[in-house]
Amino acid sequence: MIIKDVLCPFCGCLCDDLAVEVEDNKVVDVKHACKIGASKIKGHDRIKAPMMRDDKNGEFREVSYDEAINESAKILANSKRPLLYGWASGVCEMMKKGVLLNEEVGGIIDNTASVCHGPSALGVHEKGLPTGTLGQFSNRADVVVFWGCNPVQAHPRHMSRYSVFAKGFFANKGRRSRKVVVFDVRKTDTANLADDYIQVNPGEDYMVLSALRAIVADKADVVPETVGGVPKEKLVEVAEVMKGAKFGIVYFGMGLTQSRGKYKNIDNAVSLITELNAHGKHSIIPMRGHYNVTGFGQVCAWETGFVNAVDMSRGIPYYNPGETCSNDLLMREEIDAAFVIAGDAGAHFPAQSIARMGKVPVIQVDPFHNPTTEMANIVIPTKVSGVELEGTAYRMDAVSLRMRKLVDVDFPSDEEVLDKIIAKVREIKGASS
Ligand code: SF4
Repeated sequence: MIIKDVLCPFCGCLCDDLAVEVEDNKVVDVKHACKIGASKIKGHDRIKAPMMRDDKNGEFREVSYDEAINESAKILANSKRPLLYGWASGVCEMMKKGVLLNEEVGGIIDNTASVCHGPSALGVHEKGLPTGTLGQFSNRADVVVFWGCNPVQAHPRHMSRYSVFAKGFFANKGRRSRKVVVFDVRKTDTANLADDYIQVNPGEDYMVLSALRAIVADKADVVPETVGGVPKEKLVEVAEVMKGAKFGIVYFGMGLTQSRGKYKNIDNAVSLITELNAHGKHSIIPMRGHYNVTGFGQVCAWETGFVNAVDMSRGIPYYNPGETCSNDLLMREEIDAAFVIAGDAGAHFPAQSIARMGKVPVIQVDPFHNPTTEMANIVIPTKVSGVELEGTAYRMDAVSLRMRKLVDVDFPSDEEVLDKIIAKVREIKGASS
């Protein structure tokens, strides 16, 4: 059986044109996906059963779901400062339950954006986000800028489906309809495909953005001969290209959000777009990584008023990045339990944070074995959303799409596990109050 119009549960492109061949309840072939998407749908490194680490020898032993869930609930209910982290590779339905669990345990809920596009949210608080949809950009954009991102490696079908090669209504010659410019500290594979590559000194993006703003505002005379390693004449040339666009789009990645300046870089980039909008139509959009990291921001904002790093220890939502993000808490050695779901703290946190997380009980809920498994005390395997479970996810442009179920499996869903943990936490807390 071929199942068409399948969504890919890997990156923020959330490609929705896959064709998956299923035989005897098994995925045997995936068409139209890139290699990383196909690999996830075909499956690998599954955790086969719930596990708990033996106190004496530190080895995992298989346990029942009930034992793993009850023990997890006990840890969370008795914790004074639990961190609930991840929430990016799952569907929105489970995220809502995550926010509820966080309320029950008075913990801090934070998602993978904390070490990725968290600064983008702060930049948006400062300046807003003149953005649009990938469909709009694909149909209209004639000047495409990638800043600090490398879609060839991180979002392999982005250029063909949305940004560069796609033929759009007003960009009907595809690649030939567009001028592509890359700003980055190194010449990436994306830069190799661009018309122009601007090499920026590491950590000096803010200055380059400021120089472009000055040039766009006809104040080129205040710009020094070189800014951030880029000659002024090159900046004038690129500013002219951007000003001349009928529809310009800037895609930005972690090269901008996690380099020196952080959220101020985003604030400055949004200001550049605002100024360019005096000349043509311009938009900007973050290149989100996990396929539903955008969804968590939506769900968390509906439920708490904030997009991530929400501390419920006061009984009301409190949000202060720099204080309430995962790594802030870990660096202050504040947490006494960690619950990691649909994200991989072990792979993405700095070594010092991981060392500190290793000192507290770690509960992992995930279909796959990954570096977090190495420091987990309890591991609870679940269904792979978008393959074994349907649900809602938000593409990087915040368009919500419905993911399909392709095969049946016996694993519980994230949502079912969360429901049981919530019920058990209530029981434990009810008994002790
Ligand atoms: S580009 Fe992203 S969403 Fe599309 S198939 Fe590849 S991994 Fe999946």
